[in-house]
Amino acid sequence: MQKMKPPVRVVCPGKVHRNDALDATHSPIFHQVEGLAVDTNITFRDLKGTLDHAMKALFGSSVKTRFYPSFFPFTEPSADVQISCIFCDGRGTRDGGPCRNCKASGWIELLGCGMVDPNVYGFVDYDETRISGFAFGMGVERIAILKYGVDDIQLFFQGDVRFLEQFG
Ligand SMILES: [Zn+2]
Repeated sequence: MQKMKPPVRVVCPGKVHRNDALDATHSPIFHQVEGLAVDTNITFRDLKGTLDHAMKALFGSSVKTRFYPSFFPFTEPSADVQISCIFCDGRGTRDGGPCRNCKASGWIELLGCGMVDPNVYGFVDYDETRISGFAFGMGVERIAILKYGVDDIQLFFQGDVRFLEQFG
């Protein structure tokens, strides 16, 4: 946005370093795909439609999405996006017991998004009375963990050829 005028459409992957404690689902290094759309007449409906389409493309057409109020520094309003659990089809139960993957809720939290905070446009000389936009960020490993049933995020960074060869 500092380098170009609207309309802006960007999807960019990148490596993220974050001060996160290391466990099976968190890593201080991970990859993220960020998206940004800025133009005239971009609405929250466009954001919902885009991410709903992306989640169906990734996890199948029966997957439902749910947007849950959240906070991020550069978007207002902001939302966490949950998808219906792909392991129990959103029922919350599996094999006669509670589904462990969604903690019996039927939903899995997957990414963050929101409408670009109008204050941001002041820093790049956009007319915030004419311009609106949305942004999202999703973790690549988190999606792969769900899609391919990987049980430890650290496997992506250990360089073990036996792990990598499964996807070759
Ligand atoms: Zn489930």
